[in-house]
Amino acid sequence: MNTPNLPICYLCGLTICGKVSRDHVVPKQMIKRAQPRARGYDYADTIDSHVPCNNLFGPEGYLRAAMTILAGLEDSEAVLYKQHVNDPNLRVLFINKDKFPGLTELDLQFFGIVDASREHPTGVPPPDFFRGRKKTNLVRDAMYVAFSVIAKSSAALLITRHQVPIPTQWKIYATAYWDHADIFDLDEHVGETIPFDDQLKAWIQPAKANVWQVIYRYGYLVVILIFDFATVKTDVLEQVRSTLNDCEFHVFVGGCLNDLMRHGWQPA
Ligand SMILES: [Zn+2]
Repeated sequence: MNTPNLPICYLCGLTICGKVSRDHVVPKQMIKRAQPRARGYDYADTIDSHVPCNNLFGPEGYLRAAMTILAGLEDSEAVLYKQHVNDPNLRVLFINKDKFPGLTELDLQFFGIVDASREHPTGVPPPDFFRGRKKTNLVRDAMYVAFSVIAKSSAALLITRHQVPIPTQWKIYATAYWDHADIFDLDEHVGETIPFDDQLKAWIQPAKANVWQVIYRYGYLVVILIFDFATVKTDVLEQVRSTLNDCEFHVFVGGCLNDLMRHGWQPA
């Protein structure tokens, strides 16, 4: 039971009795302009959370690296998937590090990227080099970091701006695409919205009773989310899916947003 008049943490859904952490609705690391107020930009403000709940979202700090990785993986000259010649069961993704600028040692560790060029400057490392290392799926891991950060921010926008009560069950669908060419003017199609920063915008619309659609643009990445709070099954996912060819949806189901950091996303 929550105690009336005490703030509620949007990440775990429980009352905050002690210190309140004021979490930025749009994460600070996504914004380059001077915060909080600048002409022509929307300031999304903060939302209450417990300090430990907010700290759980440490991997949010990897958003920039995730974006660099996703952008790099889009470039066919930057990556090469290869079966290892000495071990056909070994599939290796080689990346050209010049095309992934600014990744730190911590970023590499977090995403399981190993710099083999120091030990094996002239060629492909032998199969032994890969043994005992964690298998990764770089596209999926980077995408899931982006989904979690953007879903958390979208959830905060729904609560602070659209009076959505903090639910006891979350079901969020997510997909993404790259819009390098800016072909599709979302302001024109979905409605005008004020940016949080250059190329940083969210379009939020009710899709059905207790179902919300959020389109979140961060740079060239466009993430489409469906927040499904309906108690009966809806066909919103099918409807959105039919308008987006070839977009794979992923789903998060949890009792609170903290579960994003515990079990995260899976293919829908
Ligand atoms: Zn909490």
